[in-house]
Amino acid sequence: MIVVETPLRRLAEGRLFATVEYMGGVPRTLTIGTESICYLSRVHKRARHIRISFYYDGRIAVTRPPGVSITRAEHFLRDNYDLMRGKMNTRVRAGTTILPQVRLKEYPHIKQQACSLVQVRLRHFNQIYGFVYNRVVIKKHKTLWGSCSVKRNLNFNYNIIFLPQELADYIIVHELCHLKEHNHSSRFWALVAHTIPNWQERRKQLRLYRHKKIG
Ligand SMILES: [Zn+2]
Repeated sequence: MIVVETPLRRLAEGRLFATVEYMGGVPRTLTIGTESICYLSRVHKRARHIRISFYYDGRIAVTRPPGVSITRAEHFLRDNYDLMRGKMNTRVRAGTTILPQVRLKEYPHIKQQACSLVQVRLRHFNQIYGFVYNRVVIKKHKTLWGSCSVKRNLNFNYNIIFLPQELADYIIVHELCHLKEHNHSSRFWALVAHTIPNWQERRKQLRLYRHKKIG
Protein backbone atom coordinates (compact mmCIF):
# COMPACT_ATOMS: atom_id res chain seq x y z
CA MET A 1 0.00 0.00 0.00
CA ILE A 2 1.19 3.48 -0.78
CA VAL A 3 0.53 5.87 2.05
CA VAL A 4 0.98 9.43 0.95
CA GLU A 5 2.01 11.73 3.76
CA THR A 6 0.21 15.03 3.66
CA PRO A 7 -0.89 17.76 6.04
CA LEU A 8 -4.37 16.16 6.11
CA ARG A 9 -2.95 12.85 7.26
CA ARG A 10 -0.87 14.60 9.91
CA LEU A 11 -3.94 16.49 10.99
CA ALA A 12 -6.01 13.30 11.19
CA GLU A 13 -3.33 11.57 13.23
CA GLY A 14 -3.00 14.52 15.57
CA ARG A 15 0.53 15.34 14.45
CA LEU A 16 -0.39 18.71 12.98
CA PHE A 17 -2.66 21.20 14.63
CA ALA A 18 -3.92 23.26 11.75
CA THR A 19 -6.68 25.77 12.06
CA VAL A 20 -10.01 24.95 10.43
CA GLU A 21 -9.51 27.86 8.04
CA TYR A 22 -6.27 26.37 6.94
CA MET A 23 -7.63 23.02 5.77
CA GLY A 24 -10.89 24.73 4.89
CA GLY A 25 -14.23 23.40 3.66
CA VAL A 26 -17.30 21.37 4.56
CA PRO A 27 -16.95 17.62 3.92
CA ARG A 28 -19.59 16.26 1.53
CA THR A 29 -20.08 13.04 -0.37
CA LEU A 30 -21.09 12.71 -3.98
CA THR A 31 -21.79 9.63 -6.09
CA ILE A 32 -20.07 9.64 -9.44
CA GLY A 33 -20.75 6.51 -11.50
CA THR A 34 -20.03 3.60 -9.19
CA GLU A 35 -17.86 5.63 -6.82
CA SER A 36 -18.86 7.51 -3.75
CA ILE A 37 -16.38 10.30 -3.32
CA CYS A 38 -15.81 12.56 -0.38
CA TYR A 39 -14.80 16.14 -1.02
CA LEU A 40 -14.41 19.44 0.75
CA SER A 41 -16.86 22.09 -0.34
CA ARG A 42 -15.49 25.60 -0.17
CA VAL A 43 -16.82 29.05 -0.96
CA HIS A 44 -14.20 31.66 -1.65
CA LYS A 45 -15.13 35.29 -2.09
CA ARG A 46 -12.32 35.96 -4.53
CA ALA A 47 -12.90 32.81 -6.63
CA ARG A 48 -14.10 33.66 -10.12
CA HIS A 49 -14.78 30.13 -11.35
CA ILE A 50 -15.47 26.73 -9.85
CA ARG A 51 -12.14 25.09 -9.13
CA ILE A 52 -11.36 21.45 -8.32
CA SER A 53 -8.20 20.62 -6.40
CA PHE A 54 -6.86 17.09 -6.00
CA TYR A 55 -4.40 16.49 -3.19
CA TYR A 56 -1.94 13.69 -2.75
CA ASP A 57 -3.87 12.02 0.03
CA GLY A 58 -6.82 11.63 -2.31
CA ARG A 59 -8.55 14.64 -0.81
CA ILE A 60 -10.60 16.64 -3.25
CA ALA A 61 -11.71 20.21 -2.72
CA VAL A 62 -14.26 22.11 -4.79
CA THR A 63 -14.08 25.87 -4.47
CA ARG A 64 -16.83 28.06 -5.85
CA PRO A 65 -17.54 31.80 -5.96
CA PRO A 66 -20.25 33.01 -3.53
CA GLY A 67 -22.97 33.30 -6.20
CA VAL A 68 -22.64 29.74 -7.48
CA SER A 69 -24.88 26.99 -6.04
CA ILE A 70 -23.58 23.75 -4.62
CA THR A 71 -25.64 21.87 -7.22
CA ARG A 72 -23.79 23.60 -10.02
CA ALA A 73 -20.46 22.95 -8.35
CA GLU A 74 -21.31 19.25 -8.03
CA HIS A 75 -22.32 19.10 -11.70
CA PHE A 76 -18.96 20.57 -12.54
CA LEU A 77 -17.18 18.03 -10.35
CA ARG A 78 -19.13 15.15 -12.02
CA ASP A 79 -18.26 16.39 -15.50
CA ASN A 80 -14.57 16.86 -14.79
CA TYR A 81 -13.80 14.16 -12.26
CA ASP A 82 -12.39 11.46 -14.57
CA LEU A 83 -10.30 13.87 -16.56
CA MET A 84 -8.86 15.55 -13.51
CA ARG A 85 -8.19 12.35 -11.63
CA GLY A 86 -6.28 11.10 -14.67
CA LYS A 87 -4.04 14.14 -14.57
CA MET A 88 -3.51 13.73 -10.87
CA ASN A 89 -2.33 10.13 -11.30
CA THR A 90 0.27 11.11 -13.87
CA ARG A 91 1.67 13.64 -11.48
CA VAL A 92 1.85 11.14 -8.64
CA ARG A 93 3.55 8.58 -10.90
CA ALA A 94 6.21 11.10 -11.79
CA GLY A 95 7.18 10.91 -8.12
CA THR A 96 7.26 14.59 -7.36
CA THR A 97 5.24 15.99 -4.52
CA ILE A 98 4.32 19.62 -4.64
CA LEU A 99 3.79 20.92 -1.13
CA PRO A 100 0.76 23.08 -0.41
CA GLN A 101 1.07 26.77 -1.05
CA VAL A 102 0.92 28.86 2.09
CA ARG A 103 -1.03 32.12 2.01
CA LEU A 104 0.66 35.16 3.47
CA LYS A 105 -1.90 35.44 6.28
CA GLU A 106 -1.35 31.75 7.18
CA TYR A 107 2.40 32.13 7.36
CA PRO A 108 2.74 33.25 11.03
CA HIS A 109 0.73 30.21 12.11
CA ILE A 110 2.68 27.79 9.89
CA LYS A 111 5.95 29.32 11.08
CA GLN A 112 4.97 28.75 14.69
CA GLN A 113 3.91 25.15 13.97
CA ALA A 114 7.19 24.51 12.16
CA CYS A 115 9.17 25.99 15.03
CA SER A 116 7.57 23.80 17.67
CA LEU A 117 7.93 20.67 15.53
CA VAL A 118 11.63 21.40 14.98
CA GLN A 119 12.24 22.20 18.66
CA VAL A 120 10.68 18.93 19.80
CA ARG A 121 12.64 16.80 17.35
CA LEU A 122 15.89 18.70 18.00
CA ARG A 123 15.59 18.04 21.72
CA HIS A 124 14.89 14.39 20.97
CA PHE A 125 17.96 13.88 18.78
CA ASN A 126 20.19 16.08 20.86
CA GLN A 127 19.69 13.76 23.82
CA ILE A 128 21.95 11.49 21.79
CA TYR A 129 24.36 14.07 20.34
CA GLY A 130 24.52 16.56 23.17
CA PHE A 131 25.64 19.48 20.99
CA VAL A 132 25.23 23.12 21.96
CA TYR A 133 23.11 25.31 19.74
CA ASN A 134 21.90 28.83 20.04
CA ARG A 135 18.62 29.79 18.36
CA VAL A 136 16.20 27.90 16.16
CA VAL A 137 14.98 30.09 13.32
CA ILE A 138 12.28 29.31 10.77
CA LYS A 139 12.95 30.96 7.44
CA LYS A 140 11.36 31.47 4.06
CA HIS A 141 14.23 29.86 2.21
CA LYS A 142 13.64 29.50 -1.52
CA THR A 143 15.53 26.28 -2.06
CA LEU A 144 17.33 25.42 1.18
CA TRP A 145 15.77 23.06 3.70
CA GLY A 146 18.05 24.16 6.48
CA SER A 147 21.33 25.73 7.45
CA CYS A 148 23.63 26.06 10.41
CA SER A 149 25.23 29.45 11.10
CA VAL A 150 28.61 30.32 12.61
CA LYS A 151 26.70 31.67 15.62
CA ARG A 152 25.40 28.12 16.10
CA ASN A 153 21.88 29.10 15.06
CA LEU A 154 19.92 26.38 13.33
CA ASN A 155 17.73 27.62 10.47
CA PHE A 156 14.95 25.65 8.87
CA ASN A 157 12.59 26.15 5.99
CA TYR A 158 8.96 26.51 7.13
CA ASN A 159 7.98 23.82 4.59
CA ILE A 160 9.50 21.24 6.92
CA ILE A 161 6.04 21.11 8.55
CA PHE A 162 4.59 19.55 5.39
CA LEU A 163 7.16 16.78 5.07
CA PRO A 164 6.81 13.19 6.25
CA GLN A 165 8.26 12.88 9.72
CA GLU A 166 11.25 10.80 8.58
CA LEU A 167 12.31 13.45 6.07
CA ALA A 168 11.84 16.28 8.56
CA ASP A 169 13.97 14.27 11.01
CA TYR A 170 16.67 13.83 8.40
CA ILE A 171 16.87 17.61 7.85
CA ILE A 172 16.93 18.28 11.60
CA VAL A 173 19.69 15.74 12.25
CA HIS A 174 21.63 17.00 9.22
CA GLU A 175 21.74 20.56 10.56
CA LEU A 176 22.36 19.39 14.11
CA CYS A 177 25.43 17.45 12.96
CA HIS A 178 26.81 20.53 11.20
CA LEU A 179 27.38 21.97 14.69
CA LYS A 180 30.19 19.43 15.01
CA GLU A 181 31.26 19.03 11.38
CA HIS A 182 30.87 22.11 9.19
CA ASN A 183 31.24 20.10 6.01
CA HIS A 184 29.92 17.06 4.19
CA SER A 185 32.90 14.86 4.95
CA SER A 186 32.64 11.16 5.75
CA ARG A 187 32.95 12.12 9.43
CA PHE A 188 29.83 14.28 9.03
CA TRP A 189 27.81 11.50 7.37
CA ALA A 190 28.94 9.04 10.04
CA LEU A 191 27.48 11.39 12.65
CA VAL A 192 24.19 11.58 10.74
CA ALA A 193 24.13 7.79 10.30
CA HIS A 194 24.33 7.41 14.04
CA THR A 195 20.63 8.28 14.31
CA ILE A 196 19.54 8.07 10.64
CA PRO A 197 21.20 4.95 9.22
CA ASN A 198 19.25 5.23 5.95
CA TRP A 199 20.12 8.91 5.41
CA GLN A 200 21.04 8.29 1.76
CA GLU A 201 17.56 7.03 1.00
CA ARG A 202 15.94 9.95 2.82
CA ARG A 203 18.19 12.45 1.08
CA LYS A 204 17.12 11.01 -2.27
CA GLN A 205 13.42 11.17 -1.34
CA LEU A 206 13.73 14.76 -0.23
CA ARG A 207 14.76 15.78 -3.73
CA LEU A 208 11.28 14.79 -4.94
CA TYR A 209 9.60 17.54 -2.93
CA ARG A 210 8.94 20.95 -4.39
CA HIS A 211 7.53 23.89 -2.55
CA LYS A 212 5.72 26.92 -3.78
CA LYS A 213 6.32 30.58 -3.02
CA ILE A 214 4.12 32.06 -0.33
CA GLY A 215 1.35 33.95 -2.02
ZN1 LIG B 1 24.73 20.15 4.96
